[in-house]
Amino acid sequence: MSVKPKVITFHYVLTNADGDVMDRTDENQPFACLTGAGQIIEGLEEALLTLKAGDKKEIAVPAERAYGERDDNLVMKVAKAQLPADLEIEEGQYLQGEDGQVVTVVGIDDDHVFLDANHPLAGENLNFNVTIVDVRDAADDEIAHGHAHGPHGHHHH
Ligand code: ZN
Repeated sequence: MSVKPKVITFHYVLTNADGDVMDRTDENQPFACLTGAGQIIEGLEEALLTLKAGDKKEIAVPAERAYGERDDNLVMKVAKAQLPADLEIEEGQYLQGEDGQVVTVVGIDDDHVFLDANHPLAGENLNFNVTIVDVRDAADDEIAHGHAHGPHGHHHH
């Protein structure tokens, strides 16, 4: 069964279970999401599809429907000697590998660093406070491109 994709434009404030703000849209720049394209986590998209312009809602998304549970096997122990000598490393820092993968520095000892390849939000139960700006059918070129276009059809590539 396929559903005609929509473009949902919305503001959000993302908080974790402790109420810490992890991410939010800028006041003048709501996020435009093409549904069915894997742009946002499944649990959020499903809830957004039930809303209409002007709606405000708190959407709770458990970890397993957000970024998944943490996998301790994704924490790697790397010898400092294997890293560039001029790289300054601090705990909590994000590093991006040549393959584009982002890892978090979760520990440092005399000879090693511990790098965590889990998504930074893995294992977190998330809460989205959303305000819907607009809901419309997606245009054919948006569906073909796999992303939403701006109000005048322009976009960045
Ligand atoms: Zn495009």
